[in-house]
Amino acid sequence: MRTQGDLELVHLTKRYGDTVAVDDISHIFAPASYVCLLGPSGCGKSSTLRMIAGHETVSSGGIVLHGMEISDLPPAQRGTAMMFQNYALFPHLNVRDNVAFSLRMKGVDKATRHKKAMALLDLVDMAHLADRLPAQLSGGQQQRVALARALITEPRVLLLDEPLSALDPFLRIRMRAELKRLQRELGITFIHVTHGQDEALALADECVVMNRAVIEQAGPPREVWGAPRTEFVARFMGGHNVLDWHGARVAIRSDEVRIVASGGVAATARAVEYQGDRVALTAKIEGGEEITALVSDAAFFAQPINPGEALRLGWDEGRLHRLEA
Ligand code: ADP
Repeated sequence: MRTQGDLELVHLTKRYGDTVAVDDISHIFAPASYVCLLGPSGCGKSSTLRMIAGHETVSSGGIVLHGMEISDLPPAQRGTAMMFQNYALFPHLNVRDNVAFSLRMKGVDKATRHKKAMALLDLVDMAHLADRLPAQLSGGQQQRVALARALITEPRVLLLDEPLSALDPFLRIRMRAELKRLQRELGITFIHVTHGQDEALALADECVVMNRAVIEQAGPPREVWGAPRTEFVARFMGGHNVLDWHGARVAIRSDEVRIVASGGVAATARAVEYQGDRVALTAKIEGGEEITALVSDAAFFAQPINPGEALRLGWDEGRLHRLEA
């Protein structure tokens, strides 16, 4: 259902010359939700985000926020703010002045803008480093400053373009928890572009999966992951096998494929990958398709299988999930 605070894309299209980067997409983002926009490189995620932010013109269609058409407004007047992948901090300004920058542009007096900047630095746990220059900060710290700087405009929608991609894996997981906490505390909508499905599953209230300039599927992460509508979504979100089964294209979760003593289908093991808590066994079934079974490490090593060996794979027929053509 649609409410006053929603951000809505209406037949939104972006063309660069002959390239259609975003093709007539319509979508309503619920207020105060954490949305992950994901899909392979080149599918149109950044173009969509930049049009919402006002850093890219709209070729046709519209963008509505709080019932108001915003696509002709300059970025600062939209009620949106963007955090860039490279953080884009001013190297010659200290942390406090970086955060306060947009208020200075608006002519807000020094005492007020410093007070507000410090409140936001407090929110991202960076108040103690307010006097440092960006070059004196770690990547994760720079990111917090960039967040505070985007939030000082009190946006209704914060747009984040691959905000975690520059961080090492350990810090990435810590920062994503922090982004989620911030979004909850602020109660505004975050739209976070990522090409990582793990990141989207961990963070999102809603996953919007794009492919070739259109939205292929949108919904809560468990729905998009667990009930992919198309082969593309099943393969992109991962964790599924896609195969022809009695004339239909179907998906079956890898963790629901079992090694069975009898019944099922005959297969030949092709690869065994140890993943710590489980083992990914890939096998070729009759007819030539490959299927991956995720088996607990205890079950696998009780009766290990080597590549080249024959085995049988089974699953509950009721768990096969038919895909749209
Ligand atoms: P994503 O963020 O999903 O990687 P983009 O929105 O950046 O996708 O790009 C979508 C398509 O538009 C791609 O084919 C890309 O090459 C093209 N594109 C993006 N920006 C420009 C531009 N400024 N000029 C021309 N083509 C562009």
